[in-house]
Amino acid sequence: LGQIKAPAGFESRTPPYEKLINKLFKVKHILNNQPLTLAEKILYAHLVEPEELSGSTSSRDIRGNKYLKLNPDRVAMQDASAQMALLQFMTCGMASTAVPASIHCDHLIVGKEGADIDLKSAIATNQEVFDFLQSCGEKYGIQFWGPGSGIIHQIVLENFSVPGLMMLGTDSHTPNAGGLGAIAIGVGGADAVDALTGTPWELKAPKVLGVKLTGRMNGWTSPKDVITHLAGILTVRGGTGYIVEYFGEGVESLSCTGMATICNMGAEIGATTSTFPMQEAHVRYLYATNRGPIADLAKSVNQNYQYMTADPGCEYDQIIEIDLSTLEPSVNGPFTPDLSTPISKLKETTKENEWPETISAGLIGSCTNSSYQDMSRAASIIRQAAKAGLKPKIPFFVTPGSEQIRATIERDGLISTFEENGAIVLANACGPCIGQWDRGEAAPKDTNVIFTSFNRNFRARNDGNRNTMNFLTSPDIVTAMIYSGDMNFNPMKDSIKLENGETFKFAPPHGEELPSEGFVAGRKEFYPPLEPKPQPEVAVNVSPESDRLQLLEPFEPWDGKELQTRVLIKVEGKCTTDHISAAGVWLKYKGHLENISYNTLIGAQNKETGEVNVAYDFDGKPFGIPELMMKWKAENVPWCVVAEHNYGEGSAREHAALSPRFLGGKIILVKSFARIHETNLKKQGMLPLTFADENDYDRISSTDLLTTVGLPELVAKGGNNGGILKVKVTKRNGEEFVIDCKHTMSEDQVEFFKAGSAINYIGEQKKL
Ligand code: SF4
Repeated sequence: LGQIKAPAGFESRTPPYEKLINKLFKVKHILNNQPLTLAEKILYAHLVEPEELSGSTSSRDIRGNKYLKLNPDRVAMQDASAQMALLQFMTCGMASTAVPASIHCDHLIVGKEGADIDLKSAIATNQEVFDFLQSCGEKYGIQFWGPGSGIIHQIVLENFSVPGLMMLGTDSHTPNAGGLGAIAIGVGGADAVDALTGTPWELKAPKVLGVKLTGRMNGWTSPKDVITHLAGILTVRGGTGYIVEYFGEGVESLSCTGMATICNMGAEIGATTSTFPMQEAHVRYLYATNRGPIADLAKSVNQNYQYMTADPGCEYDQIIEIDLSTLEPSVNGPFTPDLSTPISKLKETTKENEWPETISAGLIGSCTNSSYQDMSRAASIIRQAAKAGLKPKIPFFVTPGSEQIRATIERDGLISTFEENGAIVLANACGPCIGQWDRGEAAPKDTNVIFTSFNRNFRARNDGNRNTMNFLTSPDIVTAMIYSGDMNFNPMKDSIKLENGETFKFAPPHGEELPSEGFVAGRKEFYPPLEPKPQPEVAVNVSPESDRLQLLEPFEPWDGKELQTRVLIKVEGKCTTDHISAAGVWLKYKGHLENISYNTLIGAQNKETGEVNVAYDFDGKPFGIPELMMKWKAENVPWCVVAEHNYGEGSAREHAALSPRFLGGKIILVKSFARIHETNLKKQGMLPLTFADENDYDRISSTDLLTTVGLPELVAKGGNNGGILKVKVTKRNGEEFVIDCKHTMSEDQVEFFKAGSAINYIGEQKKL
């Protein structure tokens, strides 16, 4: 290899191509030059030790089987999840982060009256949290993007995503960066700390799902329709365990931001992430966002080493083909993003399902759809309507994804087009997409329909009303629908009656991929220094009186003995991370472990009584579950939870593992775990076990004593990568029996357990 140097001034934003390609060559050698998918190339180029793959005969054997130890290039964190990530990072005692990182204040801003008023109010409400995040950024050299600067994924796309990069983000829509050819994965805070501290980050090698795009997009069809259509095919679980990799000649007709929209919503099909091979559209976007030298370098790296494209003849685990020429806009929902209805069928589907026919609001923008192309297409629809004398029938909101987008569409007259036609332009933040939408006194209390260009539509996600039905679609369709306010309207073929008796029909929208006069940055105060240096003298202030933030105390290390724990509750049925660590009003305590722990398992159902959030003390007295945990913690009674299948399904919410650990939990014994939650428990130093014989669940009661048998020996052997651990059950009447339980501890995870948590272990390693 010749030397591949990052362009001057772009060092922290250029992937270490030379190192990555050297590693990829080693992997290719180990795998006898087998053709690899793009996803495999980027992942394997980030292996800590490519030799880990020695002994593998085929890349197909690696996928879905082998754990990869990876070194990501960068980390991004949004304000809600960054709090716990940084509190954990602080306990490691490092002076700066091992990789470039950024913090983005976007989730805590309520959308109501418009950008200026809303932003002032959000800053006043969350000042303490924003100050904490800013001081962490300054101390450790992490870029701090303050409130109003934009949404994490849009800012990452505009500044940091590059073909061939691998990054982690503490948000599930981090894969948005795959639109610019990166592998970008959403994780919890403890995983982010791995990357921030330079500790290898572990991932089970995903399978690769190829999506072949043919034809060309035209008319009303937009990139959003690729992913809403795909969600309809694959459902919300169809991408689980996969990276989705797009290929085929249809890719060439997509804009970079369109590809980002498609990757963004890969999260809705459960995919680990999604990505696109390097395109001319990527080069154009990098140039437009002032990264021409990176574009030139990436292009030459790809020409010379084909690092950012799949090898001809590579094999996918599954292939789905989509013809862009015949694809029509979809409308997905309500309440689940995979319920996909083509716009031509919306009228009859609405009737069949007895959905309300009146739409109550339209919202465009968010991290999913606020590109210049999206905004200019929406504006083209508004201009047509305005010319015909039409006025919107329902409230219309626009959320720009970043200050750069907002300032550029302001300069080009798009904001005035929106506002003159009744739109409220909200702050550059998440707002209505994450429940931060105050609809004021006019808020419908009952069932009502909204159309949005967002990515998720779970109940209560937007305005807190469980009966608001959010239909996800392209910004084009949302914008056209505000002029009819009617679910039966198909803007592709129906007309609207004008006051003068004539009829009006929309022509297909048109927009520009990129602004012809380039982007403008906008207000300078929203931009942090591009290459921040750590400032060790900066104090990170967390007031002991704060109810929003609390410094973390390290969990105590294992004492080397068998674990003896009392069953605090036997949980019945479904127990997701929402049951274990509820969101909603609890979100504001994300940086305060003690306060948020008052929500622990409050959604869980007691198997023995059928009650929710009730557990019983030794004397039969009832308590709320977290209250009994606190009592037993104070009395020095270690406890465990016994539960059923897929315990911890739902999200990577790390508080679902942190809180039980904080409250004195030692073992979670279940019929089966959701994989990410099981990993999170191990990271917090707990012992997750599953019943070898599910019938043993029925033999255990609350307050039984569970004692491990042979834990010290198992730890001494480094966990053996899983196996049986015996557990002695002692009933209150003295009866005893021993059951077989299964554990899945790897060598690293045994070290986490011994140290008390992964963070303790990392801290110990850094001090060595
Ligand atoms: Fe998440 Fe919505 Fe914010 Fe995007 S706009 S980061 S989906 S909350």
